[in-house]
Amino acid sequence: MLTEWAGQVGREDERGRGLVAPHWSKEWEWKPGGMAAQAGGGGEGEARGGKEHKDCILEPLSLPENPGGISAVEGSPSVTCLFCEECSPVSEQNQLLKHMIIEHKLVIADIKLVADFKRYMQYWKKRFAEQPTTDFCPVIKTNSEAPLEDQDSYFLLCDALPEDRELREKLQQQRLREILEQQQQERYDKDFHGICMFCDKEYTGNRSILLNHMAKDHAFNIGLPDNIVNCKEFLDLLQKKLDSLQCLYCEKIFRDKNTLKDHMRKKQHRRINAKNREYDRFYIINYLGSKERRRKAGHL
Ligand SMILES: [Zn+2]
Ligand SMILES: [Zn+2]
Ligand SMILES: [Zn+2]
Repeated sequence: MLTEWAGQVGREDERGRGLVAPHWSKEWEWKPGGMAAQAGGGGEGEARGGKEHKDCILEPLSLPENPGGISAVEGSPSVTCLFCEECSPVSEQNQLLKHMIIEHKLVIADIKLVADFKRYMQYWKKRFAEQPTTDFCPVIKTNSEAPLEDQDSYFLLCDALPEDRELREKLQQQRLREILEQQQQERYDKDFHGICMFCDKEYTGNRSILLNHMAKDHAFNIGLPDNIVNCKEFLDLLQKKLDSLQCLYCEKIFRDKNTLKDHMRKKQHRRINAKNREYDRFYIINYLGSKERRRKAGHL
């Protein structure tokens, strides 16, 4: 994993060259040894841009009851950098990740696996304000074969750190809990209202009535109702694709509605493209941990 990761840094580093200098001064060298070695390390205060933190006191690492409980900023649609006030919309997290690599030399490993990016960032922003980065992150050197001036060091925040692993697990469980609650609510909801994408018939009642109709009468099957979550949003997304004259299966665009309809019927394209990752979030199975998921899929 480490080599793969180092490769990523190399690429980001290439892109980052010539941009604004990092906040951290060159003089601040990272010493090996992690927390203990860093406990008395003076100078980080200034190096971290004057952010105050306790110098020598290492408190026991403890997770708050609810890592996502920073509810004051819960409603805000953007995420803030762990080290400065740079922020970016949740939907553009890559921009912020790139910013942290270039400006602060921090790489977060396997960020795609983090269930809730915003809460994850909120948690670590708070912790990084309390303790030096080196307490949490090993330092990875790149270009170690190259002359000294071409070498670079990066912090790695990853789940090898028990606190990070615990946070990731809690976020995962929290998201699963939320999604199961949503699914439960949809399962018993009798006020669902939707229109069939193929014959424009209106359906009111439980979502399964419409899904079953589309499966039975139009051979359009997106899965068992109970395996689906946020069904309304899912159907709206599919409807939007059809409205923009796109085939749901091959995703080609057609010139008018009738041509598209004929195409989907004749080619048996009345199904969704299973490779389209956009749909993943509508299936409960994708919220289970990878182990559980594989077990469910019969791979374990
Ligand atoms: Zn920043
Ligand atoms: Zn219909
Ligand atoms: Zn098609």
